[in-house]
Amino acid sequence: MTGFATRAIHAGQDPDPHTGSVIVPIHSSSTFVQDGVGGLREGYEYARTANPTRTALETCLAALEVGLHGRAFASGMAATDVLLRATCRPGDHIVIPDDAYGGTFRLIDKVFRHWGIEHTAVGQSDLDAVRAAMRPNTRLVWCETPTNPLLNIADIAALAAVAHDSDARLVVDNTFATPYLQTPLTLGADVVLHSTTKYLGGHSDVIGGALITDDSELDEQVAFLQNGAGAVPGPFDAWLTLRGIKTLAVRMERHCDNAERVVAALQAHQAVTSVRYPGLATHRGHEIAAKQMRRFGGIVSFSVEGGASAALAVCARTRVFTLAESLGGVESLIEHPGRMTHASTAGTQLEVPANLIRLSVGIEDAEDLLDDILTALG
Ligand SMILES: *Cc1c(COP(=O)(O)O)cnc(C)c1O
Repeated sequence: MTGFATRAIHAGQDPDPHTGSVIVPIHSSSTFVQDGVGGLREGYEYARTANPTRTALETCLAALEVGLHGRAFASGMAATDVLLRATCRPGDHIVIPDDAYGGTFRLIDKVFRHWGIEHTAVGQSDLDAVRAAMRPNTRLVWCETPTNPLLNIADIAALAAVAHDSDARLVVDNTFATPYLQTPLTLGADVVLHSTTKYLGGHSDVIGGALITDDSELDEQVAFLQNGAGAVPGPFDAWLTLRGIKTLAVRMERHCDNAERVVAALQAHQAVTSVRYPGLATHRGHEIAAKQMRRFGGIVSFSVEGGASAALAVCARTRVFTLAESLGGVESLIEHPGRMTHASTAGTQLEVPANLIRLSVGIEDAEDLLDDILTALG
């Protein structure tokens, strides 16, 4: 197998055999000619079922995650929805992280619960707690590592063993780490989920999701729902995502470099009461992160003295860090999880601290980022 950056640029992206086009074209056709009834030229029939630009993206995603099958969706939530329906039936149970991505929690708690799928939320750095949450009807252990926005670390290989002991599957939402930093399938996970909206797309200009697995039976069910329910990305979305992926390796190195600089500056600041970053030797999950990740990513969370109002004030004062939801783009973003991305967890077991700020550290000049955040902290 070739190296990561080579796969990102070439996997599924051979030059077009007809025109010589080096870049995969945006195939906008919704339908494909048949040479006689059922005579498909390259397997394409109707673009909800499959589209050559999407196929290129799916092949590339599978290659990056070192998996057999990749499927692309219209969003990370569409991928989540399909995975839940492919793996769970009424009466089944899922174990989710107690600081799951807000949208994932909302879908499971507000939609799937009413269709008879129960869940238990536990901190997944505590393997005993995960073991205790398993039931005979548990079909899925849902894992995020690092988690959003608290950056807790779960041991993927250990969680896979716990899930498999109970005949459940382990899904890892690998959005934060990206396959450049961590490949869950190689650690025993059964399926990897992505919001490609974030680092994979990388430029904050397209929404998308993906599922990657080695399990051909599961992939068949996923493909059935991808076509049957139809939450597919359009060809331009697939093309933009592919274009973003080409630079993933270099972007991630710079995200990590800049995040390390920001972490050091925050740690030295009086108004900062705690910094969460898995690269810190003092982070609870550091050893596991060091074992399963190449580096520690571009997301940094920290708490400030003075509660919610102080945190909101910092968010209002940055100039280079843009106040916005989402993460993983080339530009640095700042947000207040309690009032923004994680507002839907208010009053639940998943509520986040009110003085918490999350940074998505971009790839601008580190000096400008440090100036900005230190000025905002005052
Ligand atoms: C953004 C995100 C999602 C949802 O993806 P969308 O593309 O916004 O639908 C799921 N998980 C994580 C960790 C995310 O950051």
